[in-house]
Amino acid sequence: MQRYSTLAVPIIAAVLLLVGSAALLPAGSAQAVPSLVATFLDVGQGDAIWVQTPDGQDLLIDGGPRTDGRVRDYLLSRGCTDIELMVLTHPHADHVSGLVPVLEGMPVHEVWYNGQEYGSAIYARFLGLIAAEGIVSRTVRAGEAYTRGAVTLQILHPQTLRASEANNNSVVCRLSYGELDLLLTGDVEASAEGEMLGRRAPLEAEVLKVAHHGSDSSSTLAFLEAVSPEIAVISVGATNPYGHPSPATVARLRALGAAVHRTDWCGTLVLTSDGTSYTLAPPGCWLYLYLPLALHSAGPGP
Ligand SMILES: [Zn+2]
Repeated sequence: MQRYSTLAVPIIAAVLLLVGSAALLPAGSAQAVPSLVATFLDVGQGDAIWVQTPDGQDLLIDGGPRTDGRVRDYLLSRGCTDIELMVLTHPHADHVSGLVPVLEGMPVHEVWYNGQEYGSAIYARFLGLIAAEGIVSRTVRAGEAYTRGAVTLQILHPQTLRASEANNNSVVCRLSYGELDLLLTGDVEASAEGEMLGRRAPLEAEVLKVAHHGSDSSSTLAFLEAVSPEIAVISVGATNPYGHPSPATVARLRALGAAVHRTDWCGTLVLTSDGTSYTLAPPGCWLYLYLPLALHSAGPGP
């Protein structure tokens, strides 16, 4: 697979040339075949990932922390008027909240989640809307898959639910199109990562949505080595109180050769692929790769 391509404007390319890294950036080209587009929305401290498949399906994995409808409005503004598959990784507010206005504002045809019982008003609202609308919902476990056309969303975790845990019960998905694989990890932590490694789940992926906003309680070296990502996306809020992402996590990713991109610095990130190569926008976010590690945390690590 072609490792990197981008639509970098000449001035950015010139700057990158100065830092000796232009070899990473071959010229972008128009995509001749239908594309997969994965949009990592800048939702602040939380996750929301919108996937458009080459045959016109819309998948939404998590909705971010806000109930003001920003994610729904973003989708509508870009011509998305219904969701074929909504996935909630786990019931925490920074993942479920933004799904509620989507459920209220457009047809959603199917919802996958882990089925965990969790006492919060926003999760109850989420479940209540699914029931009220008669939406097909499914409690998913490792080994299940959603295949439409050339795109497959494979569930790698959880195999069973753990009592009293939310992060480690996160639904982990591997989205595949051609030679491209994206691993979407929710907020799993080290123990769930170890569980997946132990049962030899197919973790390898060119693009990794880094678990739990870059927390040091996730992204063990063994897990990252199994994924071996070229691109690591950290969905994180600016100046969040948790110190996310941890500089140690960023360092581990960099040591493995991954290009680390953060939504708090770059805003919404859009990955487009024809199944062979891919581009990442905005091109300016490549500049952040060269910032020193000391700037990769807004506060003390958790
Ligand atoms: Zn989270």
